[in-house]
Amino acid sequence: MTIDLERFHRQLADELVQLQEALMQASAPQTELPADPSSGTELAQMDALKQQAIAKAIRERLPTRKRALQAAFARIGAGTFGRCCQCDSALELERLEGDVAAVFCLDCVIERDAQK
Ligand SMILES: [Zn+2]
Repeated sequence: MTIDLERFHRQLADELVQLQEALMQASAPQTELPADPSSGTELAQMDALKQQAIAKAIRERLPTRKRALQAAFARIGAGTFGRCCQCDSALELERLEGDVAAVFCLDCVIERDAQK
């Protein structure tokens, strides 16, 4: 089975662009909490806190994803894209379609999950 590298390369590039935009948005100034607690309802403050927590989670997750995408780019360059990083068997095409930056085959994912 040959992998359509060009297609995955394009997909990687697209996702990286989207990620950069999301990163920019996530690092934009955050909504301030009401300075005077009596001016906002408790619910509004809870909402603002929740928003901040979500933004924080995104900010923390994005760099990880960015590294995964960059690593996938490197694997395309090295000619190892589409191979499991653990057992070197070919990745299932469905896996790559589900996550273009996937590094482990299904067997290895299951194995690694079991070790947790
Ligand atoms: Zn594997």
